Amino acid sequence: MLILAVTLVLFYAIISVILYNRNLDLLKSEVKQEAEYICTAVNISGPSYLEQMSQVDERTRVTQVDDEGNVLYDSSSEEDDMENHGTREEIEEALSSGTGEAVRMSDTLGRELYYYAVLLDDGSVLRVAKSMDNLALTALNVLPVMGILAVVTMALALLLAKWQTKRLIKPINELDLEHPLENTLYEELNPLLVAMDKQNKEKEAVSNMRKEFSANVSHELKTPLTSISGYAEIMKNGMVRPADIPVFSERIYKEARRLITLVEDIIKLSKLDEESVELEKEEINLYELTREVVSHLAPLASQKHIRIEITGEQVQCFGIRQILDEMIYNVCENAIKYNNEGGRVSVWVGNTLEGPKISVSDTGIGIPQEHQERIFERFYRVDKSHSKERGGTGLGLSIVKHGALLHGAKVSVESTPGKGTRMEMLFPRDKG
Ligand code: ADP
Repeated sequence: MLILAVTLVLFYAIISVILYNRNLDLLKSEVKQEAEYICTAVNISGPSYLEQMSQVDERTRVTQVDDEGNVLYDSSSEEDDMENHGTREEIEEALSSGTGEAVRMSDTLGRELYYYAVLLDDGSVLRVAKSMDNLALTALNVLPVMGILAVVTMALALLLAKWQTKRLIKPINELDLEHPLENTLYEELNPLLVAMDKQNKEKEAVSNMRKEFSANVSHELKTPLTSISGYAEIMKNGMVRPADIPVFSERIYKEARRLITLVEDIIKLSKLDEESVELEKEEINLYELTREVVSHLAPLASQKHIRIEITGEQVQCFGIRQILDEMIYNVCENAIKYNNEGGRVSVWVGNTLEGPKISVSDTGIGIPQEHQERIFERFYRVDKSHSKERGGTGLGLSIVKHGALLHGAKVSVESTPGKGTRMEMLFPRDKG
């Protein structure tokens, strides 16, 4: 509509100018012709011919001026009332070169006039003039036609635009968004449909993962609870000798502890899942943090006669303290849990070309190649009984993976069964 409106206005302006120029050209040739006739007639029959002129055509004004500029004859005014015409452009031109012309507003008539002057044989000048519409008047004459044209074309354009938009939008509204790739509509929409399909699949995967997770959680919670209730029932029925009561209590206590750890891990994971982790990122000394974690784990290591040591250098990282602590703790704890009696755990913290890095190596049981990818999944354990025996929930490395994602860090595993495992966490270089 806007383009049409602009086009119409431009068209109107151009057509007015063209019409005006055309009228002017026509008028000029007409006036010139008339002037030539009168000139010839006056040259033949003398100025008395002019006297009859005023009766012929009232729209044409004829004036005769002598070489001094005095008006000798004028078809529309009294000669005596008229001022000297010697300075008029067309008269001056005619006196010097034989003919002259000019377009200007007439003081006498109040309209635009075209003047054409010719030098007569007797040395005086004959001037013929006709009034014409100026540009504004020409434009005003064209206006009604243009107005009707504008209204009709605009109405037509509006109707067409509405109809076309409706036709284009209708199939889009009828798209099957559940199966975007099955629609064959506009080629231009394909990237959008592909993106939509990808998003649908991602949503489905997330929802499947949630379902699987809930099923796993229920199962994991049920196992220790069943054990606890079983042991308690045996004790309640008096089927346990007083001497065995400490053993049973110990089992109940262990299962209860496992339950608590499990619930704690689930809470940690679901907190990490809520993408907007409220905790603020801050500048953290990774070496100091790791040292604290290692010293917390020292009693667990010494129970198994495992030597744990930390080397490296002070290095800063921009992150969330609580989550980083959790990540380092889980990796170091695994290195102890899945180690052999009298084994070794070496922790290194330092700066590398790619960024700050924490590397944890153990001399433990190792992870077979085919399991290395999957150990980061929720509840995935290489050896279920082994893990449970060591108080594992199968969620530790999931927490590590989520934490790494939140920090833009990369976690890698290198492991040889029977020899040991090296787990590395590489953090992005601090931009500050
Ligand atoms: P868990 O609570 O069972 O330790 P994790 O998610 O921390 O759960 O680890 C998943 C599994 O990966 C463990 O059950 C274990 O089989 C294996 N794993 C992790 N770290 C090590 C390691 N350092 N050495 C050997 N196996 C490991």
